[in-house]
Amino acid sequence: MLIVFIGPPGAGKGTQCRRLVEQLKIPHLSTGEMLRAVKRQESALSRWIASYIDAGKLAPDHLVMRIVAQKLQSDECKRGALFDGFPRTIVQAQLLDDFLVEHRTPLDIALELKVDEQILIDRLLKRAEIDGRADDNYETIRERLKVFHEQTSPLIQYYAKQGKLASINGMQSEEDVFGEIQAAIAKHHRQ
Ligand code: ADP
Repeated sequence: MLIVFIGPPGAGKGTQCRRLVEQLKIPHLSTGEMLRAVKRQESALSRWIASYIDAGKLAPDHLVMRIVAQKLQSDECKRGALFDGFPRTIVQAQLLDDFLVEHRTPLDIALELKVDEQILIDRLLKRAEIDGRADDNYETIRERLKVFHEQTSPLIQYYAKQGKLASINGMQSEEDVFGEIQAAIAKHHRQ
């Protein structure tokens, strides 16, 4: 079972992914978490990655794909994986497709979580107070939303063309969002 989760920052991907992995028993691969883990190390690579994350810009496609490919080949991902925040560009989606074709493991579904912009900003500013994530400040939030619209939203068409897209309204209660996600997965998995 391979699932891609697409949604702007603050859409609730992380929360829904935690529920899904518990139910599906597949690992949660958040490239944001993976990159933050590298950023915490003291190295030239970590400083380089920090320069992207802290500015709200995307890390280079091939670097991210290399990190993801390593994970996908590990035993942990034998039963599949749930991608959170990956792919984030058309190039990443193509690199992932190439990898999956080579390993004969097609993607099951791309879930899109839709939330209005003002709600996203409010949620992220609130999260900033709770988690204290360095990139949850107003300037960086605006940049991340811009990056989403420019670089990530074209993926919605990309997966729609493959017949793999399911769009979910992310402005309902957590339970209702999860219910819609489960229904979408059940439908696509049967196909
Ligand atoms: P959010 O979706 O709230 O912005 P993430 O944890 O998914 O949070 O990502 C945080 C940051 O990590 C991004 O702004 C970007 O700098 C970097 N990042 C995460 N995933 C990717 C990716 N697939 N490609 C490039 N950069 C990424």
